[in-house]
Amino acid sequence: METEQAVLLLGGLFAFIIIILLGRRPRRAKRCRWRKSMTGSRGSLIKYTCATCGSEAYRSNGKPDSCLAKLKTPGL
Ligand SMILES: [Zn+2]
Repeated sequence: METEQAVLLLGGLFAFIIIILLGRRPRRAKRCRWRKSMTGSRGSLIKYTCATCGSEAYRSNGKPDSCLAKLKTPGL
């Protein structure tokens, strides 16, 4: 009985590790993670910074939809 329990425990641990490893797989960074920057906001324009590519954008009506990394001009 003890060996069976140990096998079950190890199996569960192994599965847990696999799930964590799969979760950490690098995803294709198509979508940006926009984060509000409170310090860079200008009046009604709120500064958003992308956590994935580091680009910046100013928006007054919510987060930007797409990534602005390929654009060289500031995303106004
Ligand atoms: Zn981005």
